[in-house]
Amino acid sequence: MFYTTDDNGNNVELYENNIFTYCPDCGRKVYVDEELFADIILETDLAGTTVFCDECGKKHVRSKN
Ligand SMILES: [Zn+2]
Repeated sequence: MFYTTDDNGNNVELYENNIFTYCPDCGRKVYVDEELFADIILETDLAGTTVFCDECGKKHVRSKN
C-alpha cells in the first residue's frame, strides 16, 4: 500500500482507481488508469505531465489534423 497526503496533511491511500489529474483545458477531474500511470512514471515525469479529459482529448486530436 502506498499513501499520499492531502492539503491538510491527512494520509490518503493510493489505489489504482483513485489516481487522477485535472484536464488542463476544462479543469475536469480525469482518472488515470494504472497502465497509463505506469507509462507516465517510466517515460515522463509526474509533475510535468498533463492528461486531457476524453472530450478535450478529442478536440486536440481533431485540431492537429
Ligand atoms: Zn477537458
